[in-house]
Amino acid sequence: MFPRLLISSSKIMHNASVLRDICAQHDIRITGITKCFCGDPQIARCFIESGITMLGDSRVQNLQRMTELPAQKWLIRIPMISEATEAVQFADVSLHSESATIDAFDRAAAILGKKHKIILMADLGDIREGYVDYDRLVDVAKGIAAKKHVELYGIGTNLTCFSYVQPDSEKMAELVWLAKRIAPYCENEPIISGGNSATIQLMLDGKIPPEVQTLRLGEGILFGRERTGYTYLPNTFHDAFTLQAEIVECKEKPSIPWGRVGHNAKGVSPSFVDKGNRLKAICAVGKQDIDPDYLVPLDRGVQVLGASGDHLVLDITDSTQAYQVGGIIDFTLTYTSALRAFTSPYISKIII
Ligand SMILES: *Cc1c(COP(=O)(O)O)cnc(C)c1O
Repeated sequence: MFPRLLISSSKIMHNASVLRDICAQHDIRITGITKCFCGDPQIARCFIESGITMLGDSRVQNLQRMTELPAQKWLIRIPMISEATEAVQFADVSLHSESATIDAFDRAAAILGKKHKIILMADLGDIREGYVDYDRLVDVAKGIAAKKHVELYGIGTNLTCFSYVQPDSEKMAELVWLAKRIAPYCENEPIISGGNSATIQLMLDGKIPPEVQTLRLGEGILFGRERTGYTYLPNTFHDAFTLQAEIVECKEKPSIPWGRVGHNAKGVSPSFVDKGNRLKAICAVGKQDIDPDYLVPLDRGVQVLGASGDHLVLDITDSTQAYQVGGIIDFTLTYTSALRAFTSPYISKIII
């Protein structure tokens, strides 16, 4: 069945081992983030077999899929109050920034007879999740210490996701300072979760203070890429995910449209360059399944022109291959496309 997504478990396992070793050299442990592949337990197992002992996902349903895997499970999106019970059931640790939600977790854990670990998030400038009022954060930490079914496990931050604010030594020092302030309310030495794949470069530069012991890594492992300068890490694979799509139309067509051109729902009209007649292919896959901007054809003679919901339009004029209807075109996926492909029920997933 096409379209299909081929997933190389050996490449993912290799990358996970490389990242684990690099991080270990800097005394950092990895929480392997599984949301890109919707918590598929077979893929998550590659992380575990590479020595990663903590897994994190933004969605409780994905954590539920990984119930059987021997790892500490982290819920990494600020939880909904309405999912408190399921979150406590399937996660050991969760990231928080609202005391009302922490109260709901305490009540849910009491009913389930569990003790749940809380990491408080500090917003260090990205303006996504976390406290900007650090005195309030310390007050909330104190409140957690008084509760019976939740325990304060540590502090965390997330950068370079919403505003692309980058981690640096000053921000890491601020996090360490906050960890010291909440330490009296923790049962053990507080965990400091220093960020995502955007913090890898800072680590490689030796600029993460020794107190920071964990990073939450998804893209870095799956694509061998750090997220500050988007450079590829040495000795990693960048093509663990391959999309195969079938050609449903193959014709020579003009490169500019004819007729009166309107605009999209946002009022923007497309623009075109006249290159004369070109050989075009349409593949049966679209924005519902992938993001055309994050799709790299393996054949360098193929160019992605764009996509609508269900049609991927390609210029194949420069290819040396004789593509025809019914043929298959291969693409390497980067993060956003892989995420969508995993989420689309129309794409069959094959782990090789
Ligand atoms: C997605 C996410 C991560 C992982 O980010 P990568 O860039 O893929 O490493 C880490 N932390 C949080 C809170 C996230 O939402």
